[in-house]
Amino acid sequence: MSNYFCMGCGRGYSDLKIKSNWFLVRHGETDWNRKERIQGHADTHLNETGIAQAEATADFLRDTHIDLIVSSDLARAKETAEIIARATGAEVIFDEALREMDFGDLEGMFIPEVNEKYGDFLGRPYKELGGEVFEEVEERAMGALHKYRKDHEHKNIVIVSHGALMGLVIKNIRKIDHAKSAGLNIGNAEAIKLEIGEPCDNCGGDLYEGGLGGLG
Ligand SMILES: [Zn+2]
Repeated sequence: MSNYFCMGCGRGYSDLKIKSNWFLVRHGETDWNRKERIQGHADTHLNETGIAQAEATADFLRDTHIDLIVSSDLARAKETAEIIARATGAEVIFDEALREMDFGDLEGMFIPEVNEKYGDFLGRPYKELGGEVFEEVEERAMGALHKYRKDHEHKNIVIVSHGALMGLVIKNIRKIDHAKSAGLNIGNAEAIKLEIGEPCDNCGGDLYEGGLGGLG
């Protein structure tokens, strides 16, 4: 039976030497999430549900020996990170490279209206609307992850960020297309565990997972 799956090629391993565990955590719910308003760089706060979601994730992470939390500096991520910090005792640092995609003129608009006017999530003309394009977000996110990885490979780290950015990270690591990663629909305060191990025999990648969305 396989306990670990290579994120680069999907090969399963029953046993593997793991150096550290990383958790990608999406921020908890905000009122804009609930009302289906587009929030990228808009600085929205967690609502009551979001706080409870972050507390549940923090409880789950309490005994995972987290050494460091790196978070987007937007309020909804920051508040999620601080709740996790209280439970784990880990230090938090903030990094603007982990901010959500900038959606330009779409910020604050209601998703059904945007879908009608500009097309669905994957097809909208973000650049023309003053926002970022997926490639830019993927590049800054992966740049940040590589930087933290270089400095802290043996530490257990929680990365607190946002839905679109996390989808692009998963796309990059799993080498899948964006439609598939966007379809993952990562939930509020959901944690995705990445395990850093020895290089995979098949593809040379060294990130493994035991299954997506361990928390549901
Ligand atoms: Zn592999």
